Amino acid sequence: MFDNAKLQLANLLTENVNKIVMYHKFSNLSHNIESSSKLFEQQLIYITKAFKNKILSSPNSRQTGIHLTIDDGYQDFYDLAYPLLVKYEVPATFYVCTGFINKELWMWYDKIEYLLETTSVQYFEISLAGQPHAWSLTSKIEKDNCALQLQSILKSFPSNEVSAEINAISQLLEIEIPVLPPYKYSACSWEQLRDMDPELVNIGAHSHTHPILTNCTDEQLSFELKHCTELLQKELQRPIKHFCYPNGQSTDYSNTVIEKLKQLGYESAVTAFTDGYNCKDRYKIRRCSGVESMHRFKKHVNGVEHLSKKWTSFKTRNNNENNVFSR
Ligand SMILES: [Zn+2]
Repeated sequence: MFDNAKLQLANLLTENVNKIVMYHKFSNLSHNIESSSKLFEQQLIYITKAFKNKILSSPNSRQTGIHLTIDDGYQDFYDLAYPLLVKYEVPATFYVCTGFINKELWMWYDKIEYLLETTSVQYFEISLAGQPHAWSLTSKIEKDNCALQLQSILKSFPSNEVSAEINAISQLLEIEIPVLPPYKYSACSWEQLRDMDPELVNIGAHSHTHPILTNCTDEQLSFELKHCTELLQKELQRPIKHFCYPNGQSTDYSNTVIEKLKQLGYESAVTAFTDGYNCKDRYKIRRCSGVESMHRFKKHVNGVEHLSKKWTSFKTRNNNENNVFSR
């Protein structure tokens, strides 16, 4: 257990490291990747007290400090988290997928979760990329486990194949996917995005349909970035300066993607991992998750997570071709 003295020491050692925190969904209850609104409020109270002048207004501020970011564009951000940001006057960046906001789609991984939540089928088998898979679905644990495995397998598939596989899964699980998602999977509306105080919430871009950008053809990549940017600018009537890579792992962006972002006028882009490398490249900003617990959050924002990842990288540097520590 970390006491305050240890947190303060870690904070001192990582004074020049930006701590960018990542959220996706919010709920009145804590569940998987959702952050409970109660925990989020405790976190806001903590940073407004402990880091009063260190809360940044954007992910690539010239100062060093803490910034909160929220991905995807879910309705629950507007309903549960935004009022708390207003209450505690904490700025944040909200990265949205324009196809999701436009009600053209719902997130493919949410469809999988929905199918498994709703099905009464008790045994399920499917072949994916030539590999046979089978799951027993007799309990919530088994269903959750199946959803997680399917999401992980399909992540590497090109987006058109993902839709085809989800249709196949939907048939096998005997559930029809509604055109519009149920509340817990639904997106904010354009009106809600316009309603949020732009001084408090930067709206950033997160592509149009949330594909893995490095799996896209040149044409798809241009569409995903350009269409998303143009729609946001048109609907919000303001420049869009910050981008978030869908999925956000080191293989999910490339120099080609970064060049296109620069051409479109983006000033920063965030990843979805932290590796102990104090990356000063504003198109490869590292983030840590704020979801797990208050204890974990304190470790993140005080730099303990950064130091521990840095130590792991140091120990494994001789075996690791991505030697993040020495760069
Ligand atoms: Zn996302």
